[in-house]
Amino acid sequence: MKKNLKENQFWFVAGSQNMYGPEVLVAVSEHAAEMVEVLNKAPSIPGEVIYKATAKTNEEIKDLIKEANYEDRCTGVIVWMHTFSPSKMWINGLALLQKPYLHLHTQYNRNIPGGIDMDFMNLNQAAHGDREHGFITARLRLPRKIVVGYWQDDAVQEKIGSWMRSAIGASVSRNLKVVRFGDNMRHVAVTEGDKVEAQIKLGWQVNTQAVGALVSEMDAVTDTEIDALMDEYRENYSFATDDTSAVRIQAREEIAIRRVLEREGASAFTNTFEDLTGMKQLPGLASQRLLEQGYGYGGEGDWKVSAMTHIIKEMTQGMPGGTGFMEDYTYDLEPGNEMSLGAHMLEVCPTLAADKPRIEVHPLGIGGKEPPARLVFEGKAGKAILASIIDMGGRLRLIVHDVEAVKPIFEMPDLPVARVMWKATPDLLTGSHAWILCGGAHHAVFSYDATAEMLEDWAEIMDVEFVHIHKDTTIEGLKQQLFLSDIAWKLR
Ligand code: MN
Repeated sequence: MKKNLKENQFWFVAGSQNMYGPEVLVAVSEHAAEMVEVLNKAPSIPGEVIYKATAKTNEEIKDLIKEANYEDRCTGVIVWMHTFSPSKMWINGLALLQKPYLHLHTQYNRNIPGGIDMDFMNLNQAAHGDREHGFITARLRLPRKIVVGYWQDDAVQEKIGSWMRSAIGASVSRNLKVVRFGDNMRHVAVTEGDKVEAQIKLGWQVNTQAVGALVSEMDAVTDTEIDALMDEYRENYSFATDDTSAVRIQAREEIAIRRVLEREGASAFTNTFEDLTGMKQLPGLASQRLLEQGYGYGGEGDWKVSAMTHIIKEMTQGMPGGTGFMEDYTYDLEPGNEMSLGAHMLEVCPTLAADKPRIEVHPLGIGGKEPPARLVFEGKAGKAILASIIDMGGRLRLIVHDVEAVKPIFEMPDLPVARVMWKATPDLLTGSHAWILCGGAHHAVFSYDATAEMLEDWAEIMDVEFVHIHKDTTIEGLKQQLFLSDIAWKLR
């Protein structure tokens, strides 16, 4: 399922024109190729940058954009106007563009040399050429990322790398299949949504598979296969239970669910405790394991959070933190030090764990099934985000909340599930107020790796409304933003 990030190509195009003559055009190409070589060595660049062309005519640009659209390996296009590139010749090409677009505003030289003459200035005029390009992309209302600064600087490379991850997320999104075992939890609103609209906007193919078919798949799993998986569990987790038969049921479920997902070409799934006909346990450990392997998961039939979990996991591949499905569960309202405790009934992703997770078996008060095995652990401390995508009726809204995860403030030996504790920005009261004001779900994606900027860029590529709750958020400002945004989206 996981694609090596380097398989994502980003085509680098330098803009120019024939008026400058061959010498200048050769210099432009050499400079662009050198920049690409340096970018590819930068640790913050996740994909492969390919110097594609110095574009000089309307036809060249149009052909290049058509090729970029058609080529699956091309995940995004990066442009830079080393010299002046009259932008009317970009219109026919850009009108066709279907790939994420980054306009890099930089220049080959860092400093103006003491011996500057007219030749030097004519070659190194991105300050001039990029403004012409800025006009046409603005005039075309083209969704694009603009990165400004010297190309050798870490901060600039990090911005480019972050956007590349957003573009990778767009590519993952447009090819994503989600399997739903059963429907949504009865009567719940936020887990519903327009799956046709989601496929039009985001590309998600969300379809149901019968729980009965999963049960048949479970019956087909052999004891030998379960033995092998139990060995893997013993290697990776500590056993805090003697009830191995309960753990074996989860192993059986893990193997069977993965088989269905592989057969369907799906990278995300949902289930609900209300529809487990023929199953002995709600998948707990099984879902956690699949999350750890990169699959998206959403509880109670929540296909939107499941899809987003997978997309963010793919975007952040190779980063050191972790990403998983999360639910705001309960608060500690100590004045001045208010905290949220997040968890789920079972399905918290082990990539969030601070230490080696323990396998435990406890009864589950709902669903009427046998006590399920699950991984129990505390989440890591560190900066993180919560992301929730909701259906506003006529459009989707992505809400991202900056938070600071902390070590849970005391031991919770009687709590039988994995848990993560965090401090909201700007503070719990304002942050929760803001989240509720914009309709954020009780389910979210929790990520130590993704940033609000990365998800904002993804939302812009996908043409989805974006709301960011951060350290400077005020309720007054947010109300105004939501009011204006509602009008703007209705006008489109
Ligand atoms: Mn839930």
